[in-house]
Amino acid sequence: MKKQQNVETFSTLKLANEYETDLKNGLTEKEAKRRLELFGENKLKEKKKKPWFLVFLSQLNDPMIYVLFAAIAVTIGVSTYETVNWLKSGNAFNFLEVGDWPDVIIILAVIIINAIIGTVQELKAQSSLDALKKMSSPESTVIRDGKRQKVKSSELVLGDIVVLEEGDTIGADLRLIESANLKVNESSLTGESMQVEKSSDIIFSEPVGVADRVNMVYMSTPVTYGRGMGIVSGCGMETEIGKIASALDNEQEELTPLQKVLAKLSKALGIITLIIVLLVLIVDLVWVFVDGKGTNIEAYIEAILSSISLAVAAIPEGLPAVVTIVLAIGVQKMVKANTIVRKLPSVETLGAVSVVCSDKTGTLTQNKMTVVEAYCNGQVVVSSDFKAQKSNEFRFLAKGMSLCSNATVDDGLYGDPTEIALVNFANELSLRKKDLETMSPRIDELPFDSDRKMMTTVHNDNGKNIGYTKGALDSILKHTTKILENGKVRSITDDDIKKIYSTNSYFSDKALRVLALAYRITDKPIEDDLIFVGLVAMIDPERPEAKGAVEKFKRAGIATVMITGDHKDTAFAIAKNLGICEIKEQCRTGAEVDAMSEDELKECCKSVRVFARVSPENKVQIVKAFKANGNICAMTGDGVNDAPSLKAADIGIAMGITGTDVAKGAADMVLTDDNFASIEKAVEEGRGIFANIKKTIIFLISSNIAEVLAMFFIICLGLPAPLIAIHLLWVNLITDSLPAIALGMDPKAPDVLDEKPRDPKKGIFADGGVKLTAGFGVVITVAVLISYFAAGWLNGVFSLGDIKALYENNASILHQAQTMAFTTLAFCELFHMIGMSNVKKSFIHIFSNKNWMMALAFVVGIGLQFLVIEVPAVRAVFSTANLTGNEWIITAICSVLPLIIHEIVAIGYSICSKKSK
Ligand code: ATP
Repeated sequence: MKKQQNVETFSTLKLANEYETDLKNGLTEKEAKRRLELFGENKLKEKKKKPWFLVFLSQLNDPMIYVLFAAIAVTIGVSTYETVNWLKSGNAFNFLEVGDWPDVIIILAVIIINAIIGTVQELKAQSSLDALKKMSSPESTVIRDGKRQKVKSSELVLGDIVVLEEGDTIGADLRLIESANLKVNESSLTGESMQVEKSSDIIFSEPVGVADRVNMVYMSTPVTYGRGMGIVSGCGMETEIGKIASALDNEQEELTPLQKVLAKLSKALGIITLIIVLLVLIVDLVWVFVDGKGTNIEAYIEAILSSISLAVAAIPEGLPAVVTIVLAIGVQKMVKANTIVRKLPSVETLGAVSVVCSDKTGTLTQNKMTVVEAYCNGQVVVSSDFKAQKSNEFRFLAKGMSLCSNATVDDGLYGDPTEIALVNFANELSLRKKDLETMSPRIDELPFDSDRKMMTTVHNDNGKNIGYTKGALDSILKHTTKILENGKVRSITDDDIKKIYSTNSYFSDKALRVLALAYRITDKPIEDDLIFVGLVAMIDPERPEAKGAVEKFKRAGIATVMITGDHKDTAFAIAKNLGICEIKEQCRTGAEVDAMSEDELKECCKSVRVFARVSPENKVQIVKAFKANGNICAMTGDGVNDAPSLKAADIGIAMGITGTDVAKGAADMVLTDDNFASIEKAVEEGRGIFANIKKTIIFLISSNIAEVLAMFFIICLGLPAPLIAIHLLWVNLITDSLPAIALGMDPKAPDVLDEKPRDPKKGIFADGGVKLTAGFGVVITVAVLISYFAAGWLNGVFSLGDIKALYENNASILHQAQTMAFTTLAFCELFHMIGMSNVKKSFIHIFSNKNWMMALAFVVGIGLQFLVIEVPAVRAVFSTANLTGNEWIITAICSVLPLIIHEIVAIGYSICSKKSK
């Protein structure tokens, strides 16, 4: 068996024979498995992944790395020159004594380690993206072994019978064997943006072009209306979409707004740093002359080398990578909180959300419908009396509701919960859907849509054709002229309508969802001149977690808005129970929205919290109005018609369980459990991630400021540099990676939802960020300078001139001073990291944080620094000195300076917050 050509000309029977499948029961599971193994997965070829060594090489393609290579080149040149001279004078070669060979090795090591870290990060990020892609891959409903079941679309095989419903993305090329008002959007194939009607009834006598094959549907195109069934006639690269896209990879790498800002920031910082570095170089060179070393080539080389390494140390080149890691960690955390993030930027935007517009059914409620009351013959019947009802009208109501439903309950529950509830309701009266359909087969239908809020099916009932229409009461009554009562059909009166509406209010006030049924004798699904039969009212319990989530949002300054297709009274009753609104004046209907001007709607969105009976267009208008009021708006949706509003919102959230593929495709995020409380968790996570990124950036930049300032200050004074090339590179390696990542992994603060949403226009440095960055930059500079001068003070030298002379003439004391400055800088970063974990709280809180990465970064940082000072072989490489007890004490005191200042800042914050309360 293989893919057949021109299947549009096959009869259904021939089709089933060629594909060796059973039209009723589909393939057997065993056969499907065999075919999957034989033909492979139903997938389009993806773009080839970059091999790891290319990823590694791409890490070297960075201006900062060029600077390092330049540093290596200069150092190699100088060292070779010195080594040749040394050898010429007859001395034996000594690696540590002659030239700066250790520098070459260290810089090379820095480049390689950075590139390895970058490669690992990139490959890890790629694999977690792949995993996410798999989790959100489309599914198809198939019939195998006679049972309906969902399978991954990639597991579809030739001959599979696929069931299509509105909102599905078609998983393979199918030849239709059944269709009911089926419409699909084939724009990705044909460029035609209008939806096209499809029908299984047509069989072509000769082959026709792709766009004309109305009895076929194609992979990757969405079903926009109706339903159908088809046999898989083409898979993977043999599908029509496969033919036109021999290599397709839709996943584009998107930079988040923050990453874009950071790229700009890095550039600006780079320029500023380069200017400072040039200044340092000029000043350094001036001092070479002032000190009369104009003929000493090594003095020039030293000046150039320290400027180059200062440039490398001062630019926070690790910043973009750290932000990506923090975002990636956040995305993983969100998966655990039942949220799949489809677009990375939404993680940041989540933290700024100020309005969450949510569906009612299924998101705020459980979508577990049960009919609990009904109304017909002018009487309300409660569920305990259902079975005892003998009236023909009541049974007709149940029969009509069950027939006019697409759900099946006999071989498992399939379909919309509202429709399942209706079938169950009829079951209670022993009216089984299967039997009803055998007696009154469906001959035509008009599917439900949320604009009409109705659905009609036509059945042949003992030779008579009857159309049953069920839907929202207001929609049905608009098309009703008669009423069925006590066996008679008569014109509907105003009194009848009044009574029906008051019963509807009675149900709605109890938060029940009401559906009406009407019928008419007709051959076609016509929704006019209907005969009213009755109402059913179903309970849909609220989700237990929803109330708490609404309450948390309220504290976080986030408004919850219910946008529903349901009746205003039902919506209000549920919204009130959940704490979304208090008074009925906070509710509006779609019709009222339609009558408003844009400005009126904007004004109304300031206080209204429930929008009922809305159309999909209303949803878009409402989202736009909230956005126009300056809100960052999240919006949930599940249907095909919700796609525009999901796109219009700042964050579109699709439902993972009930959501259609189209809605998922349009959304930024997918909730795997359809639960409103998961949105709250995601927002909380989003705020935590943003806070962590902010901390990381302030930490990195203040550290870099300190490095530049300390060097600049000392060099301006004409003293030997406080930190040599290797020191700066080393500190850069420690400060730029582990502690920054540790800060990014901090658990979110417990009170993260107690503050108002962040103003998205304000960047990272808003709300005191600039002061913190510059302030701690200066504090660390001061600490480093004190340590540097302290070596002189401990030798009894206090005036600047004397210290200068001492350091220039006594290499071992200079090494002591540089070692102290170097160690202080390294340790300061570690204490600064602890402080940055929460600038508003005393550092004590980190013990309850349980951030093992922070503990690791601290211990490893301290350990490595000891290694550099205490192990003689390493000491020789780093030109460090053994510190005395007194020197260690001063270094230790200077190192904790950032933490002391941090504690003072924390006290200040706590006083301010008490005052503001
Ligand atoms: P939400 O928008 O919060 O999901 P909803 O399910 O009530 O709420 P829609 O699906 O747009 O929103 O339905 C609007 C109205 O149409 C419902 O209140 C109900 O009266 C009616 N309705 C819903 N489902 C069906 C159906 N399968 N057949 C007929 N009418 C329906």
